Amino acid sequence: MKTRLFILAILSAMSFNSCNCNNWTDLTPDEFEKAYIADGTVTIDVRTADEFAQGHLYHAVNIDWQKDGFMDEIKVNFNTTLTLAIYCRSGKRSAAAAQALSDAGYKVLNLTGGYTAWTEAGKMTNSYQVEYIPAGGGNDPLVITLIKHGSLEFAYKGMSVQVDPVSGYGKNTDYAKEFPKADAILITHEHGDHLDKNAIMALSSEKTEVLLNAKSQQQIGFGRILANGEHFTLSPVGIIVEAVPAYNTTAGREQFHPKGNGNGYLIHFWGTLSAYVAGDTEDIPEMVDIPKMRQNMRISVAFLPVNQPYTMTVDQCVNAARMVNPEVLIPYHFSQTDLSGLADRLPEMKVLLRDMQ
Ligand SMILES: [Zn+2]
Repeated sequence: MKTRLFILAILSAMSFNSCNCNNWTDLTPDEFEKAYIADGTVTIDVRTADEFAQGHLYHAVNIDWQKDGFMDEIKVNFNTTLTLAIYCRSGKRSAAAAQALSDAGYKVLNLTGGYTAWTEAGKMTNSYQVEYIPAGGGNDPLVITLIKHGSLEFAYKGMSVQVDPVSGYGKNTDYAKEFPKADAILITHEHGDHLDKNAIMALSSEKTEVLLNAKSQQQIGFGRILANGEHFTLSPVGIIVEAVPAYNTTAGREQFHPKGNGNGYLIHFWGTLSAYVAGDTEDIPEMVDIPKMRQNMRISVAFLPVNQPYTMTVDQCVNAARMVNPEVLIPYHFSQTDLSGLADRLPEMKVLLRDMQ
């Protein structure tokens, strides 16, 4: 027994030393769970895109360790002031990546046993597509989970902002199991593919701020009403959410989304980082004001709806995109619309076609 304890002591001293000289920290799933959503921490899945698509940690960005350009992508987008929380399938690839990243000056948290240990411990996962928008000056990137249709989530500095969470439209989403409790939930309007009381309840804690239009508030019986032109600031990070108009203009279609009822949202995360989620709307003239609301800084990312007869045609989407002029355009709420020619018509921005039908 004594010998065994002695060996254990040596082994633990060795592993402690190896962690010290490697300058990264190995964490169990329980420890990793407490650390990976924090302000100043970026979660990176270093597996292949195929492995990532099968399932991954909440708000993890996928950068494949085995691909050329791994270190370049990290160095270009993340300052060494950020902590990188990394994992692979079993812990082998992430240990190699942890070594390279700590050599490059990053503080690294490595999930021991990888995704396998994480899922065996029953921790939170989902399988949605994830995009990130890097920020300058060593700040946290904006990480976006693309859930479906009109539903998406922004993760920024440890805060979670959900937009139009809906459980049952298209693929089923289990918000209680797949996402942390939200700091804010933004509802654009009261239609069933945007407003789902059960999903809101599943994401809510006593701290969650629910921001919505008046008709949505009437339906669910709670939340803070924002009319077009009103804004609200989310603490502690100071994210400003501004409600902007969203409505139909085509004759005979005004009843789908009457002017003054629903909201789009312009979200000011930090200096250069912003997002515009248009809601259900056509290419309304108020869209030319969106860049002015950012002192003519380009909007980091815009979500524009493209489906008939409720929102925009592809031509209207092109017109709207030119008014808003975001750096990145992600069409959403597009159902069966053919968007294959969209990117060629908008060379001035990056157009990402994702699973947001
Ligand atoms: Zn809709």
